[in-house]
Amino acid sequence: MKQKTSLIKKELQNQKKEIEEGLSQVADKSSQGENNYKVRFPEYGRSDDENADEVATFIDSLSMEKRLRESLEEISLALEKIEKNKYGVCEICGKKISASRLKILPTARYCLECKQKKE
Ligand SMILES: [Zn+2]
Repeated sequence: MKQKTSLIKKELQNQKKEIEEGLSQVADKSSQGENNYKVRFPEYGRSDDENADEVATFIDSLSMEKRLRESLEEISLALEKIEKNKYGVCEICGKKISASRLKILPTARYCLECKQKKE
């Protein structure tokens, strides 16, 4: 089990790095916290077309930032749990989350049963 967790940790750290790289393309890290980002507003030019493109890009960046930041938060949470030896334990019922579920979703917070009840 210990071996497995260290592999998951490595995988999560890799994912975290990739996401942080993705985020840095569209946003600047804010000084307010580890997972806090500020989306950059692009500057293409002053014509109407360019201004419209800037807004379109900014909207894309916002949704991308949101998606990436949510994944980043999930990964950070999972890594934190590994540190505290609480990884793979359902946050609701306290039972172990099945290995097959964690394989598909390494950041799973709930067992399948609780997840289904929650939805
Ligand atoms: Zn549960």
